[in-house]
Amino acid sequence: MTDPLQQALACIRPDVRAAHAYVVQPSAGALKLDAMENPYRLPPELQQALGARLGALALNRYPAERTAELARALARHAGVGDEVGVTLGNGSDELIGLLTLAVAQPGATVLAPVPGFVMYEALARQHRLNFVGVPLRAHDFELDEAAMLAAIAQHQPALIYLAYPNNPTATLWDAGVIERIAQAAPGLVVMDEAYQPFASQDSLGLMARQPNVLVMRTMSKFGLAGVRIGYLLGAAALVDQVEKLRPPYNISVLNAEAAFFALEHADVYAAQAAELRQQRERLFAALQALPGVHAWPSQGNMILARVPDAAATFAALKARGVLIKNVSAMHPLLANCLRFTVGTPDDNTRLLAELTSCLS
Ligand code: PMP
Repeated sequence: MTDPLQQALACIRPDVRAAHAYVVQPSAGALKLDAMENPYRLPPELQQALGARLGALALNRYPAERTAELARALARHAGVGDEVGVTLGNGSDELIGLLTLAVAQPGATVLAPVPGFVMYEALARQHRLNFVGVPLRAHDFELDEAAMLAAIAQHQPALIYLAYPNNPTATLWDAGVIERIAQAAPGLVVMDEAYQPFASQDSLGLMARQPNVLVMRTMSKFGLAGVRIGYLLGAAALVDQVEKLRPPYNISVLNAEAAFFALEHADVYAAQAAELRQQRERLFAALQALPGVHAWPSQGNMILARVPDAAATFAALKARGVLIKNVSAMHPLLANCLRFTVGTPDDNTRLLAELTSCLS
């Protein structure tokens, strides 16, 4: 007798059976500085107003028009005209999946600088595409222009991701190098601007000059990581292809309304981002001043720093209730590197005090 469970499992792809699920570190009770979340919530009066808005929604209906309206509202918020295409994902993670699916032909290649955001490679592998990671320059985590152009010429990638700024290095790469990469690319170039609220520049000008360039943004780092709204901007002819792959009801009625509410109160979020940019500079200066620590300048809401023993420092901070991210194992260029999300002034004061005593 065959075991029906074993038979069913045998139908699952062997690479899926061999894979591990994405693990989120448990964080209950900890000072959570591991995931580039905005530490601020809405002020209480706005929480109440949002609650009333959500309570009045017709949750018995599938989302429809509101999703399309939100897409256009986000495009307007970004400052692009109505001729620019836009589509929404359940977080930009979903958009990365849809973009990968759109180019997923046998033998196709996805290319990105490494170390970079892990989902580019994970989703390329899920769709059985080749993934080519091109190492960044070791000392400053800038793009290695010659290596990028050589890899593009060799692998002819259908899809290139450039995170602007990059995660986990928080670098905003040289705009001239990016322009030349976009010109050399035989396929799509996605500028992943998840950290745009904290950066001094964006890629909308490049997108207007280079029709193969798309810009992807998210409301997560803006302050709505729990809401899950990502958006993709670009030439309508390209965005329309991704739109065909979008599950029709991927943005819940609740998510869309919360996103509209956030846009109506964009000034509140802009003030939070301004505060976090200031705090980032304070944290950077303080990290640089710690003995044995090297921090890299950041254009995001996180700071990458090398310490003498990342595993020991990570564990000591965790034992003191401070959760950060140990990125050392991600890539050889990140040996002994930790990533600190910028928190509130009090969060950062506590982090620095705990870190100082862990390192002494
Ligand atoms: N892109 C980058 C560079 C990121 O760091 C992240 C999340 N950490 C994402 C995309 C995914 O964001 P979202 O919450 O919109 O799925």
